Amino acid sequence: MIRSILPPSIIGIIGGGQLGKMMALSLIEKGYKIAVIDPDPNCPCASIANVFICASYSDEEALKQLSNQSEILTYEFENVDVNTLQKVSHSDQVPQGYECLRVSQDRYIEKKTIQDLGIQTVKFHAFSTLIELNALTLNYPIIIKTRRFGYDGKGQYFLNNTSELNKLDLSFPLEYIAEEVCAFDTEISVIACGYKDGVVTFEVFENKHKNGILDYTIHPARISSDLQNKAIESAIKIIKNFNYIGVLAIEFFVKDNELYFNEYAPRPHNSGHGTINSCDYSQFDSHVSAICGSSMLKIQRLKTSMMINILGQDMDDTMERFEGLSTQSCHLHLYGKTSARKNRKMGHITILGDNYEEVFEKAEKWGINR
Ligand code: ADP
Ligand code: MG
Repeated sequence: MIRSILPPSIIGIIGGGQLGKMMALSLIEKGYKIAVIDPDPNCPCASIANVFICASYSDEEALKQLSNQSEILTYEFENVDVNTLQKVSHSDQVPQGYECLRVSQDRYIEKKTIQDLGIQTVKFHAFSTLIELNALTLNYPIIIKTRRFGYDGKGQYFLNNTSELNKLDLSFPLEYIAEEVCAFDTEISVIACGYKDGVVTFEVFENKHKNGILDYTIHPARISSDLQNKAIESAIKIIKNFNYIGVLAIEFFVKDNELYFNEYAPRPHNSGHGTINSCDYSQFDSHVSAICGSSMLKIQRLKTSMMINILGQDMDDTMERFEGLSTQSCHLHLYGKTSARKNRKMGHITILGDNYEEVFEKAEKWGINR
């Protein structure tokens, strides 16, 4: 049952990074208060939370404290221990539910569940010993990923052929998944939001990755409307399967006009950050409204956009590149992280325009080719 949660109720957020912060900003605008748990006292949410609990996500006592103080709970990342979350919360206190989260925590179970819904994936197998890995019938090249706890390409190994198997430095009994590499034409994501009275989707996002990390996103994606519709249909199917409330993001590969499901995230997604500036309601507005029991927010996209991630190593020349753009419908978002480590997501830029031409022209300083 989805309850209506009205301001100034306290909404609890597990994780105080950039996703938590952007959810929090949307909640604060609407008059809610926020309670946040994060082990880092300098995390992006620390300075804006009404209640800040500085503790590890696996600290059951601290999670219980968060749950006691919050009307409902949400999370900014998938690796919250579901059993602990279940233990510290009432069932109507987590509108996103537990099941969608549980499935997302294991890449093998996730792909299998989605395949069983009739959605196409690349060929994949699970393995937990080298003997099993050697016996797999997959066409090379393949990618090996840890089943749990991977993000931004971490815990992944690309293998061109079987002779590279012995170069692997895997540790057992960790569990892995091996997948065929999809020589995709493009990568896309669908961001959909489950409400108590239906599902709303944004137009599809087109994503470019660099070293396994999202580099930039173009919205809407430059793919056929037929493919857009198919991707959106699959997203709705996944949301309905879990009776899921809130934002769910789904990543697909597109190859020869076919879609291959890659993974989903039961939360707002990096590819949707541009919606803060490009749409009348952002993915964060959608997420927080849905979990607070609002009726569907229908989305209107106001501009074509490009969202570019700023990583730790980009921080030095970001201001220089951004100069001159700040007056041209371009928005700089910095998350307020204190140390600019390599590959750490520090902020993003959203470039708006009336068409792709205009957006690409403004993005020239980032060396992005059409
Ligand atoms: P995560 O985002 O959790 O780190 P992903 O599975 O999304 O893990 O992998 C990150 C990126 O690596 C993908 O967006 C894609 O660019 C590339 N990649 C992952 N799996 C495959 C695959 N089977 N075929 C081709 N590219 C892949
Ligand atoms: Mg991914």
